[in-house]
Amino acid sequence: MAATRVLVLNSGSSSLKYQLIDMESGDRLAAGLVERIGEETSRLKHTPLTGGGEARDTEGPIADHSTALKAVAAELSRDGLGLDSPELAAIGHRVVHGGKHFTQPTVIDDAVLKEVERLIPVAPLHNPANLIGIRTATALRPDLPQVAVFDTAFHTTMPESASRYAIDVKTADEHRIRRYGFHGTSHAYVSRRTAELLGKEPEEVNVIVLHLGNGASASAVRGGVCVDTSMGLTPLEGLVMGTRSGDVDPAVIFHLMRVGNMSADEIDVLLNKKSGLVGLCGENDMREIRRRIDEGDEEARLAFDIYVHRLKKYIGAYYAVLGRVDALAFTAGVGENAAPVREAAVAGLEELGLAVDAELNSVRSDEPRIISPEYARVAVAVVPTDEELEIARQTYALVHDSADRND
Ligand code: AMP
Repeated sequence: MAATRVLVLNSGSSSLKYQLIDMESGDRLAAGLVERIGEETSRLKHTPLTGGGEARDTEGPIADHSTALKAVAAELSRDGLGLDSPELAAIGHRVVHGGKHFTQPTVIDDAVLKEVERLIPVAPLHNPANLIGIRTATALRPDLPQVAVFDTAFHTTMPESASRYAIDVKTADEHRIRRYGFHGTSHAYVSRRTAELLGKEPEEVNVIVLHLGNGASASAVRGGVCVDTSMGLTPLEGLVMGTRSGDVDPAVIFHLMRVGNMSADEIDVLLNKKSGLVGLCGENDMREIRRRIDEGDEEARLAFDIYVHRLKKYIGAYYAVLGRVDALAFTAGVGENAAPVREAAVAGLEELGLAVDAELNSVRSDEPRIISPEYARVAVAVVPTDEELEIARQTYALVHDSADRND
């Protein structure tokens, strides 16, 4: 029996998302999510996507990621899709921080685990959860290739002029301080799909990608290669996000320490958890913000305006970085669904060849689509992201190609 399936695991700080995909047929066989790991009210939602099985939703304490993955394996087994299946070719793990070292998806061995562990200080929430996911999956199927697909990998092509902060070189290098960028799997997938939508090869087009979810980042992609991105050493830099501030004057931090008597940890929580849209208007869901704006809420209006102003600054900056732009692509929860954000971000940029057609912009669809009018020089696109499929694709390409070479 041919091994054509990939299980994708995305271990967050308190969650575990998974999908089982057949790479030859393109079918998604199962998907699910374990939420609130480590709490009393953990929840496992499992959905078989072929074979007509019922979706199952179980609540009850799940102590850690290792228990969560074992529960997921049991659910998959109930649908005849267990981890012991000979059709499983590999397990692909999303790993948030791969540092400078990992530029490609990588088959995991002890040296890779050590390096991911070494990067914990720059990704304290994510890399430990990713490591537990990898170790548990390896214990369950030690014979199977486990592949790490790094969120940072797509951005490792950034030139030094974009990736280096203008701080003392020795200090920066000693502490590995540089701009790494995140959401790389999404930026890679969306920039490639945008080229396809234009009927071009990725090498032929320059794209600005706006990944606007609860976390948000922009990237400038020249000919399929990332040349700049808005997140930095950590996912805090750049755009205004659901709960993160994005760019601030770094002096805000020592001002708060000296004048506000706040500790480094308190400021960390302030900027990562209590800022962005939540900090500005108490709400991080763009739907709710739009509803409040419609009711005349000034606080929500200002939060929206600050969010859009930052977006515009990055569009302008990346336009200048790229010199020529063929497409601007919106993706993730806000980018795919919030037509008012797309409209406002592009408003007034006609001189740059950017415009949105109101009617096309208002269409709701899961398909990639162009929303700019025909006359516009730059295509504005909505391209739903699919990080799981991209992780599966990269994982399968790696194990499949090496299997071919060994034949
Ligand atoms: P993500 O992190 O990609 O799952 O995006 C989550 C965010 O997308 C939510 O916090 C909302 O702000 C936003 N979102 C999701 N659906 C909609 C919608 N229909 N309209 C506006 N914003 C939405």
